[in-house]
Amino acid sequence: MQSQFDYIITGAGAAGRSLVYHLGQAGLNHQRILLIDEAPKRQNDRTWCFWEVGSGPFEAVVARSWDQLWFHGAEHSRRIAIEPYRYKMIEGGDFYRFTEEWIAAQPNITRHYGRVERIEERGEGVAVLVDNEEYYGRWVFNSIYKPQQRHPSYVHWLQHFKGWVIKSREPRFDPEAATFMDFRIAQGNDVRFVYVLPYGAHTALVEYTFFSPALVAHEIYDAGLRSYITSHLGIDSYSIEHVEFGVIPMTDMPFVRQPSPHVMNIGTAGGMTKASTGYTFQRIQQQSARIATSLRTTGQPFYRKPLMNRHSLMDGVLLNVLDTGRERGHIFFDKLFRRNPPQRVLRFLDEETSLVEDIALMMTANTPAFVAASLDLGTRRTWAALTATNAAAPERE
Ligand SMILES: Cc1cc2nc3c(=O)[nH]c(=O)nc-3n(C[C@H](O)[C@H](O)[C@H](O)COP(=O)(O)OP(=O)(O)OC[C@H]3O[C@@H](n4cnc5c(N)ncnc54)[C@H](O)[C@@H]3O)c2cc1C
Repeated sequence: MQSQFDYIITGAGAAGRSLVYHLGQAGLNHQRILLIDEAPKRQNDRTWCFWEVGSGPFEAVVARSWDQLWFHGAEHSRRIAIEPYRYKMIEGGDFYRFTEEWIAAQPNITRHYGRVERIEERGEGVAVLVDNEEYYGRWVFNSIYKPQQRHPSYVHWLQHFKGWVIKSREPRFDPEAATFMDFRIAQGNDVRFVYVLPYGAHTALVEYTFFSPALVAHEIYDAGLRSYITSHLGIDSYSIEHVEFGVIPMTDMPFVRQPSPHVMNIGTAGGMTKASTGYTFQRIQQQSARIATSLRTTGQPFYRKPLMNRHSLMDGVLLNVLDTGRERGHIFFDKLFRRNPPQRVLRFLDEETSLVEDIALMMTANTPAFVAASLDLGTRRTWAALTATNAAAPERE
């Protein structure tokens, strides 16, 4: 079948736009690319934070960055220097505008707005059905995420949060340091913390965050935000300038990377969300760069991955610890940041630590709880493998 496009990208959010940008940067700008989304982006609907050393591909739209972070455990507060890392913030609105302008200047990229209804393998390519029209591509990169069916062998938690950008009358924020995690709030059977991203002394995004199996009513986030702003930030008079709400999957259940021979799932849909933290943005950049390199050097996008990823197993162990209550989340994170240099923790969360560093890090946690969780995880995984019925083995990055 004759392809109309070399690559079709379904979903033009963070992953779709990052991929198209990385393809261009890698010199793949003679390929015919179709980028499909339901609608143009008109909202500043999310704020991305991540850390890195040096500059990244979207440095031009980094709104703020910090080399100091506050970590507040229930009993200890620390201001942490994280160099050579910087903790960076990108606003969705800026990212969408920047990529929109760049895409508009690329003659090889076609935009289409419509609802993707089906993606279907056809011979040597793929048909994408959008509002009763069919488009054909040699490869499809899909970022449309459909939550997986829950499986008892895996933990299915969510990271969910509501944030307010507030403006206070008095200068109450420390513009030189973001608050990474503040656990000085009432904890339930889940994990709750607040993070604060200061724009300046008067303005900040304050985000009330849960790691838990299910969402809560909006009044709970609102009450949590109000109470935090008054009691911990000491702000009585403020205006709410912007509201943000988000839900991110936290699961150790593998994601399908290759649902059919010419389709690759990317972004959240492709398992780029780190199961134990919800961080996704940097992993999307890494995935996009790898796909671009693979396409340029081999003509196909499926880059090689290690057979076993120790870090994703450790994510599963941590989720098991939290889900079973073997260790409370706020206690775990407190020990992690109190007993390790922050750079080691950030490298660990980036999955760049060596086995020796991982062991050193694990020794600072509640070892019996983690050993019990590892054994439990082993049993659950064996059970999942024995009862697996579908032939296509899903994989996690
Ligand atoms: C509010 C919020 C804040 C976040 N903050 C951070 C953060 O600080 N750091 C971090 O690392 N990660 C963060 N994340 C997680 C993650 O980085 C984002 O969810 C990121 O946007 C994921 O990129 P994606 O491309 O996989 O999904 P999306 O960006 O959601 O893109 C998917 C696209 O698919 C489109 N789509 C869906 N269905 C269809 C359909 N049927 N047809 C056509 N198009 C369709 C959607 O319109 C959307 O544009 C945050 C997530 C949210 C929701």
